[in-house]
Amino acid sequence: MNSNIKKIAVLTSGGDAPGMNAAVRAVVRASIFYKLDVYGIYKGYDGLIKGDLEQLQVRSVSNILSRGGTFLLSARSSEFRTKEGREKAYKNFKANELDALVVIGGDGSFTGADIFSHEYDVPVIGIPGTIDNDLAGTDFTIGYDTACNTATEAIDKIRDTASSHERLFFVEVMGRDAGFIAVNCAIGGGAVAMLVPEHNWSLEDLIKRLRKGAANQKASNVVIVAEGCKLGSSYDIAAKVKEQLDYFDIRVSVLGHLQRGGSPTTSDRVLASRMGVAAVEGLLNGQSNVMVGVINNKIAYTPISEAVKTVKRLDDDEFRIAKILSI
Ligand code: ATP
Repeated sequence: MNSNIKKIAVLTSGGDAPGMNAAVRAVVRASIFYKLDVYGIYKGYDGLIKGDLEQLQVRSVSNILSRGGTFLLSARSSEFRTKEGREKAYKNFKANELDALVVIGGDGSFTGADIFSHEYDVPVIGIPGTIDNDLAGTDFTIGYDTACNTATEAIDKIRDTASSHERLFFVEVMGRDAGFIAVNCAIGGGAVAMLVPEHNWSLEDLIKRLRKGAANQKASNVVIVAEGCKLGSSYDIAAKVKEQLDYFDIRVSVLGHLQRGGSPTTSDRVLASRMGVAAVEGLLNGQSNVMVGVINNKIAYTPISEAVKTVKRLDDDEFRIAKILSI
């Protein structure tokens, strides 16, 4: 193990995700287990720029495993995008005699960490905390499972009203650039169709699918729309469908930020705990500029630059399954 590292800091950055607290807890407890000092930085990179950090103890992270959000708070720091901002951050990093930084966040947070690490030769390690699951180098990101469960539960409730009134519902889920949540919820929630940013489904394809469902006397219809769908917003799509299929009573439900909140699922807690420990052990073993991931249920370290640049593809087989089951 690398004895140069004695003091590390951890921050959460970008959009919050359920399970971030569990990851911080794991970083703190693993650090203390390995006899390191560990500091928590508040409000992401802004906290590093302002020197808003404190030493954490075993008890500092009691009772946070089950809490959504992040007790370290998160932020989108425009100052850290500037050289001057990162210089201030480095001054605080040095002033506190820190040796390494653990960043829990998404691709933007990792890009910032990568730049900082190269500019100042600081060891950094990333833990993927984002509900979107859009990072290569890991099968799952922290928060994705919880967000899918929350969305599927909402879809189940919407289906109750959809079937009672024989309505067609468009349910919009999160995913500006990636359709992972949409595909997962479409299968888990039994949707008739899903519209995701990665695929070029046309309005005609959707109409055809809905006509087929009507011919098969489907009692309720739920279409899942990822927010980044290229056909437009769920409201636009619903209006266009109404023009062609006026016999449908159509409603739209945008799930929005409720998908980010709530207590993390057991899977997310375990994933976050494994990744938090692996981040500390990785640093002690000389890993730097890497993201911790879990691939085929094994811990894997991927260079941050690769994790950020590589586009993670949706699983084609899931599309095939959704199509078979939606008739
Ligand atoms: P999510 O996937 O939930 O949106 P994210 O980590 O991708 O999370 P961003 O808002 O993209 O969220 O990035 C978080 C922060 O990372 C930014 O506010 C900024 O401080 C830093 N960051 C992002 N890109 C850069 C960059 N090119 N240079 C320096 N810092 C950056």
